[in-house]
Amino acid sequence: MRAALLPAVGAPLELVERPDPEPGPGEARVRIEACGVCGSDLFLQKGGFGADKLPVIPGHEAAGVVDLVGDGVDAIAPGDQVAIYYIENTPDAPRPNLGPNVKRMGVDVDGAFAEYVVRPVTTLIKPRGAVDPATLAVLTDAVGTPYHALAQVAHVQPGETVAVIGVGGIGSNAVQVAKTLGARVVAITRSPERQELARQLGADEAIGIADAGEAIGGYGADVVVQCAASAEMDEAAIDIAGFAGRIVFVATTPDSFETRASTLVWRELTLLGSRGFTPSDIRAVIDLYLDGRIATDHLTARQRPLHEANEALEDLRAGRVMRSVLIP
Ligand SMILES: [Zn+2]
Repeated sequence: MRAALLPAVGAPLELVERPDPEPGPGEARVRIEACGVCGSDLFLQKGGFGADKLPVIPGHEAAGVVDLVGDGVDAIAPGDQVAIYYIENTPDAPRPNLGPNVKRMGVDVDGAFAEYVVRPVTTLIKPRGAVDPATLAVLTDAVGTPYHALAQVAHVQPGETVAVIGVGGIGSNAVQVAKTLGARVVAITRSPERQELARQLGADEAIGIADAGEAIGGYGADVVVQCAASAEMDEAAIDIAGFAGRIVFVATTPDSFETRASTLVWRELTLLGSRGFTPSDIRAVIDLYLDGRIATDHLTARQRPLHEANEALEDLRAGRVMRSVLIP
């Protein structure tokens, strides 16, 4: 099979030939139809996950069709369309996405910038109806991540005001997910184009950070979801949270930020972290998509063949796209 290999920190991807992987017991081979290219692939290339992870084939946001199953597999059969949950974990882990034993496809083991991957069938999710492959791929991470943050971590309630900081590959979908949860949404980005996109995706208001307080109004935001990798925005997220507000951090930066206990005490603020997503989040967002409540055109518009993987990373780095999708 062909794959795009990241050989070392800072190096470009290389197109390589690899033997087709063979599924063992409890595993299935998936012919990859689409794999999203996202910010964590740039982070991997920069050495963010550690130089010891490389060389590796990246790709963690993927969908395809099962073409071969190993012994003892009956839940999945050749021909089934599947979304791939990129994490393998031990059954006693506190959550599927957490713990010291997470094994991440595209970081700890070879990923889906390739024609095939072999996965434990427990990490494969069959949609209830057919989904366009590029859409199914981006639903997993780009939509599953904000769904996890808003529905599972911050427990957004109907009628609450949700402020979304950063309208990129994650924040744009935080806007959509918050609307499906019945929230009023204020999207915060300095880019006029992204403000317009946020409005198209359902934001009630879209403004720059300087005008956020006024746009949020009342006693401040009930929930702030921080999707911009910036310590300055981490502090801004706390500033715009209202009384009894929850701030959920999704984007990460190595830079630290400052707050004071008195700030948290005075407004009874809750600071929350949200890491990735789980298989049940993937199922939930697939259902939202099939019900017509989530759009993915802004994520799937740019599709490239596998041999243009470097160009896809460059588009993302330059901010020309929110996502690219590789079609191996
Ligand atoms: Zn990702």
